[in-house]
Amino acid sequence: MKGESNKRRCCSVTKLTKLGKSDLYVNPIGLGTNAVGGHNLYPNLNEEEGKNLVRTALNNGINFLDTAFIYGPKRSEELIGEVIKEIGKREDVVIATKGAHKFVNDQVVFDNSPSFLKQSVEDSLKRLQTDYIDLYYIHFPDEATPKDEAVGALKELKDEGKIRSIGVSNFSLEQLKEANKDGYVDVIQGEYHLLQRDAEKEMLPYTAQNQISFIPYFPLASGLLAGKYSKEDTFNDLRSNMPHFQGENFIKNLEKVDQLHPIAEAKNAEIAHIVLAWYLTKDSIDAIIPGAKRSEQVLNNLQTLEVQLSPEDINKIDQIFK
Ligand code: NAP
Repeated sequence: MKGESNKRRCCSVTKLTKLGKSDLYVNPIGLGTNAVGGHNLYPNLNEEEGKNLVRTALNNGINFLDTAFIYGPKRSEELIGEVIKEIGKREDVVIATKGAHKFVNDQVVFDNSPSFLKQSVEDSLKRLQTDYIDLYYIHFPDEATPKDEAVGALKELKDEGKIRSIGVSNFSLEQLKEANKDGYVDVIQGEYHLLQRDAEKEMLPYTAQNQISFIPYFPLASGLLAGKYSKEDTFNDLRSNMPHFQGENFIKNLEKVDQLHPIAEAKNAEIAHIVLAWYLTKDSIDAIIPGAKRSEQVLNNLQTLEVQLSPEDINKIDQIFK
């Protein structure tokens, strides 16, 4: 699945990679957009800055955008729709979005029923101002719907041309196997980064064997793995509740990240690039979707493509975060 097509990006050539069994080709460095209009996740987000992140990405060779109904809610999809319309060239962009969240009496519940998923896709199409979605994920599993039935609904939407490929997210291995009974799942998205490596045990081997791309979310552990935080830093957003940002754990994690300095320096790269490049050495990880809050970060993350990790580097990083 890796490196099957070439596309010109600015002054160099980026190898595009195929996602799963789909016919989608993406720059391995995508853009996660939960900070584009994701007002429910980050306070005080500026929407124009969010749109600028998307513009910067699309104008510099990133063609893979990851959004969801719940980012905002709805605003991330709407802002992305506006930028794509403004830039044009819809066919050059691979839009991934997700649904499953439903508001009942102001409470969020998950719904994977075929009727809800079909309505959710229709609503996302409108917000994104497009007539097809390249990759549609079931964002979270619900308890009631058989997973192959939920995916069956997405297969019907695919046959109708409303979506081009099928994804699931936050599914356990068992749920993924049930979802993929008929072989329809192209991509799974799950939490995986150097501080959370459970997926290595069974999930990554399964995805590699079944031609499913695994897209890790939180690849920078929400910024912790970018090597710029210190123990004095505090957070007033979703990070304030994350285990790896708490007390002693936070300090230990910072010490581990610190050990990446020599590898980064030897390559004239930054820690974020080393971390992001490490994921792309894994078999079924064909692309990553680091988020960003500033356009410089979007551009900076593209430099990951210049980094070559040797087997020794890969092993060393592995050991630091074992
Ligand atoms: P992330 O990619 O681990 O971290 C992104 C944060 O790291 C940025 O907001 C920025 O934060 C910092 N950063 C990014 N590039 C940097 C650079 N070059 N140098 C220094 N700092 C840098 O976390 P995420 O954005 O939450 O996750 C990525 C994407 O995954 C999301 O945008 C979303 O699309 C997706 N996601 C999916 C699920 C799901 O349930 N499927 C869940 C979560 C996320 P600061 O500037 O604040 O430091």
